[in-house]
Amino acid sequence: MPASSLDQVVSLCKRRGFIYPGSAIYGGLANSWDYGPLGVELARNVKQQWWEAMVYRRDDIEGLDSGIILNRKVWKYSGHEGGFNDPLVDNKESKKRYRLDHLLEAQSAATLQKLVELIRMKTKASEIDTAPDKLINGLVHALFDLKSSAGELLTQAKIVDPETDEPGNWTEPRQFNMMFSTQFGVTADEENKVYLRPETAQGIFVNFKHVAETSRRKPPFGVAQIGKSFRNEITPGNFIFRTREFEQMEMEFFIPPPPYAEGERTDDEWHAHWVNERFNWYTDLGVSPERLRKHNHPKEVLSHYSKATTDIEYRFPGSLGFAELEGIANRSDFDLTAHSREVPNNTEARERLKLPPNPDSVENLTFFDQEKKQHIVPWVIEPAVGVARPMLVFLCEAFAIELVDELPEADAKRAGEQLAAYLKSVEKSENLDDGDKKAIVDYGRQLAAMEIGKALPQVSALLELKGATRIELSKKLKGLVDKLIETNYRTVLKLDWRLSPIKVAVFPLKKNEDNIVTLARKVRASLAAHWRTVYDDTGAIGKLYRRQDEIGTPYCVTVDFESLKENTVTVRHRDTMAQERVAIHDLVPFFSRKFSHPAHCREA
Ligand code: ATP
Repeated sequence: MPASSLDQVVSLCKRRGFIYPGSAIYGGLANSWDYGPLGVELARNVKQQWWEAMVYRRDDIEGLDSGIILNRKVWKYSGHEGGFNDPLVDNKESKKRYRLDHLLEAQSAATLQKLVELIRMKTKASEIDTAPDKLINGLVHALFDLKSSAGELLTQAKIVDPETDEPGNWTEPRQFNMMFSTQFGVTADEENKVYLRPETAQGIFVNFKHVAETSRRKPPFGVAQIGKSFRNEITPGNFIFRTREFEQMEMEFFIPPPPYAEGERTDDEWHAHWVNERFNWYTDLGVSPERLRKHNHPKEVLSHYSKATTDIEYRFPGSLGFAELEGIANRSDFDLTAHSREVPNNTEARERLKLPPNPDSVENLTFFDQEKKQHIVPWVIEPAVGVARPMLVFLCEAFAIELVDELPEADAKRAGEQLAAYLKSVEKSENLDDGDKKAIVDYGRQLAAMEIGKALPQVSALLELKGATRIELSKKLKGLVDKLIETNYRTVLKLDWRLSPIKVAVFPLKKNEDNIVTLARKVRASLAAHWRTVYDDTGAIGKLYRRQDEIGTPYCVTVDFESLKENTVTVRHRDTMAQERVAIHDLVPFFSRKFSHPAHCREA
């Protein structure tokens, strides 16, 4: 069972040192996070897996590490300086600020319908496409087209402020540029103004010629980069899902442009190839395909240069639900044309791509096609993903609370009675919204019909449903359930070993037996030369196993009295909790076998 709420994962991350709130000793910095000892390892492993899949196992991709701060002209010609905007709107009463599209997504269908009607009355037009996947975008455009009075219509339609749950009094929506600016040099004048990159991709485009020439590449080939990006997001949140400073893993795959000869791989085929490759990356690392989906952006909402974009979405637990993990875009010849001084059919290309002339570039980002005997602008397929979102997905997927010891009958009976009393109280309550009440009762009845001793994590999840804690009896039930889970269950992160922050933990059976401690430390050192291995003697063995389970360590090694005589240790497996004796001199080959996997080397 994956995590049933994001809170379970957030609390584990904070408790065990994966992630800390940023600048905490000075009261924090809104929605900023620091990665602790385990978080930094998990993030490094995610990046390593991405790099191995994208660069090492393929024969057609090179790596790059460009600057965070680039010449300002890069952002002028990429279109970011003029257009990297998000629509924002404020509630004059609550003083809360929202991204307009996110605010609309949080409204009921009836409220959105009301807004559609009001806009239609105002413009006397009925152009808003109300198909579910087009409605939000259509409304945002229609509201901006109004020029003025959009705020008034939002207010009249009773658009609800998600923070206060009350209809807001809305300002005119406006565009907000998300790039952070700073100065490059000692004086803070316009001349020295530069931006912190909002994506790593542009660093790749401006180096296209360098990489192609120095590594003697011709399309199709790709350039991969991992690094920090910065966006002044209007509404950061959902833990590390959306932050203003974040890391990205992006790969720009340069391909020959259309038209294609018979048998030549087309841009659509390359796009489909990358969507599949990226989807498989997640499932190969243990994400259930049932909680992943591919979302094709409708043609109407694509940027003019994008021929197709597919997002890979993951169904996060709780209210976040399906959300974008990664985007795979067919960016056509937009980027390399934008940064070129001149390309073949320059005027036609710039008109088609709505690009201004570029007298500032000293380069033409083309390649010479030997067969066609002409310079050609490659097209680009771009898979782009953050580091934090996959991290969060892997944590949610791996999270499990498992029964270890059968519950004593009396405890199970007590839990059953308290659940029944709680559900009765929910049914009678006048304090709950009808929909919330129904969701709690329906799920509660399912649980009541199960063997309660085995369903306590689900009871915890029940108490996290909307409105569930408004019922007085919830506190009592939660207290009992938490206590029983603590004593009879274990929390375990069933991470793929490639992602686990620690691969092996070594314990001495007795921390005051010098010989055992010395041998345990020696074992740790010999394994640490190969894999991240830690030594721990700060508790009884059972407790130490639980602690490692909770952070996803696949194997624990215990050194005991027998080890001194027989030169063997106990190896305990995280998922099955099975134990086996292994000779100390065999440990490295033993774990080498465990920590190996078929390398999926791919031909493009
Ligand atoms: P969203 O619609 O969620 O704002 P986007 O479509 O603007 O994302 P892209 O510009 O396509 O995102 O960026 C590629 C990837 O970078 C995203 O799929 C996501 O994994 C990651 N990413 C983008 N913005 C953020 C952020 N503010 N915090 C964390 N990760 C981010």
